[in-house]
Amino acid sequence: MIATAAISLGGCATKVTNSDARFQDFPEYTGNDLEVTVDDNQTRFALWSPEAQAVRVNLYDSDQGGAPYSTIDMTEDTDGVWRVTVPQQLYGKFYTFNVKVDGKWLDETPGIWAKAVGTNGERAAIIDFSLTNPEGWENDKGPQVNAITDAVIYEMHHRDFSIHPSSGIQNKGKFLALTESGTSNSDGFATGIDHLKELGVTHVHILPSYDYNSVDESKLDSAQYNWGYDPFNYNAPEGSYSTNPADPAVRIREMKEMVKSLHDAGIGVIMDVVYNHTANNDDSNFSLTVPGYFYRHRDDGSYSDASGCGNETASERSMMQDYIVNSVKYWADEYHIDGFRFDLMAIHDIETMNRVAKELKELNPNIIIYGEGWTAGDSPLQVEQRALKENVSKMQGIAVFSDDIRDAIKGHYTDATDRGFATGKEGLEETVKIGIVGATAHPQVDYSKGNNSKFAYAADPTMVINYVSCHDDLTLTDKLAKSMPDASAHDRQRAARLAQTIVFTSQGTPFMFAGEEVYRDKKGVHNSYKSPDSINAIDWSLKSVNNDQYNYYRELIKLRRNHPAFRLTTADDVARHLVFDDESIPGFIRYSLIDNAGGDVWKEIIVMFNGSDKPVSTIVPQAQWTVVANDGNLRADGLGISNGGNIVVAPMSATILARE
Ligand code: CA
Repeated sequence: MIATAAISLGGCATKVTNSDARFQDFPEYTGNDLEVTVDDNQTRFALWSPEAQAVRVNLYDSDQGGAPYSTIDMTEDTDGVWRVTVPQQLYGKFYTFNVKVDGKWLDETPGIWAKAVGTNGERAAIIDFSLTNPEGWENDKGPQVNAITDAVIYEMHHRDFSIHPSSGIQNKGKFLALTESGTSNSDGFATGIDHLKELGVTHVHILPSYDYNSVDESKLDSAQYNWGYDPFNYNAPEGSYSTNPADPAVRIREMKEMVKSLHDAGIGVIMDVVYNHTANNDDSNFSLTVPGYFYRHRDDGSYSDASGCGNETASERSMMQDYIVNSVKYWADEYHIDGFRFDLMAIHDIETMNRVAKELKELNPNIIIYGEGWTAGDSPLQVEQRALKENVSKMQGIAVFSDDIRDAIKGHYTDATDRGFATGKEGLEETVKIGIVGATAHPQVDYSKGNNSKFAYAADPTMVINYVSCHDDLTLTDKLAKSMPDASAHDRQRAARLAQTIVFTSQGTPFMFAGEEVYRDKKGVHNSYKSPDSINAIDWSLKSVNNDQYNYYRELIKLRRNHPAFRLTTADDVARHLVFDDESIPGFIRYSLIDNAGGDVWKEIIVMFNGSDKPVSTIVPQAQWTVVANDGNLRADGLGISNGGNIVVAPMSATILARE
């Protein structure tokens, strides 16, 4: 999901006649010189716009205001491309295009391939990219990823992470925040990138960081906040996260410095990408370049709206498919990005997503790709063509979010007071089990009893992202407050520990929302896409207040990273090595990972979850067991020893036992 109210629906003025079928006849252009290319003594402009009657480029001295110092007509070349060459290097200049269609000049646009832009992305810039690379960039590399299930993903908004005074960070709300080491809260607990290293996550997933529409980059002193699900320029960084949006090179260099700093810390960078819709309709850069082509329409010619934000793009059209594929490849290549999270991925077609994965992995086999396997509204794209959760097994190298495990653990996302398995609701055991096996086929899991999915949609656990909360909807802290209003703060934290223990021990890839390790909340606001910092900022004094909670999370991540039994990569391995206990107790799940699963040093691991408010007694074979988790505590190296026999699993907690 995304913020459905984030963008005004706009006027659907342009009626696209003769249906969208005519776009299939448009010529395709596969060259890599669209937009602008600077040679030794010339600057070449190129724009793909097959139906244009005329195209011109406007040259400016500055990023905003004033008139162009020159406006030059472009000439139609082959394959729908318009071109003009200026016999000098135009570094430092800005430009826009104008396209004439149906006898009318459309508004200026920086084009769809602007890679450097000035304030608010209104004008594209001509810069020397080699000057934007930080020192040592040529040797910069992200972490090696043998399987996506080895990743521990931390979903973060730049501003949430550093804006609070308690962060101790200088460059608050900026890309550069993640380049500062040695920062701490007033009690000396690490913040910023040191905190991430200490926590042990492998990848930071940054919320939209391309140039988005809603924050006015010319007024950064005023209070502004947005998640950024309103794309404007897809191939340039967002200006408000830079220290100077007016200088096009600054946002580029600072984002690269952020990537390099995380890479130096051994952490990968995943970008949240939103190719499924644009902030504007008729005024988008797509519409101002080739009206209609990049979008899907209803029969009456209006924009179809599977995004819930006023429009949806048309990945099945060759030049839109190329655009998505080439755009992510550009970020992977120029910015060394290690992964992509596709917003409302099911608006895209399966073929496009398979091409994305194939071409990205050819570029860098460590790249990981996942997305939301759903849409926010209906689409003209046939259901069987959509990159849906249910179709994930038709895709290669792509994972989808498991709403199954999410809602089963904590209760339904649309009903704040609804409880889940970890908060005492019975009847969700089978859906939690679907999550535990990574939505793969398992002889002991009855998918007909699943709450969300009725079949094993994942061919392998590598196709599933497990999580209990993210930027959307209530934070886990707020969800627990609303669904357990009479519980003590202590008991809610126990429930949070149980919830995340299920996520981090399940097969698939774990994903967590930034700040939940210090028990951050958002004051009960479920759609905080434009809420002020007072709602969205992570208060790092919570790391002192909730330090026990933080240490639990840290140990939980360590447990997962130390033990391949929790990170199996095939459905066969899961079916063979993960065995549920036959004993059926409401609110209780017990399973074993057996026979050194995944090559683990532990021969057997018994994992038990008690979501009820009563202790559960169960019999464990006599042996020398290392107690990894018990009664709300967890240590990857063990809390103590048990000889088995009768074991009591405390209310709302996990017990994990392991033996070599
Ligand atoms: Ca912007």
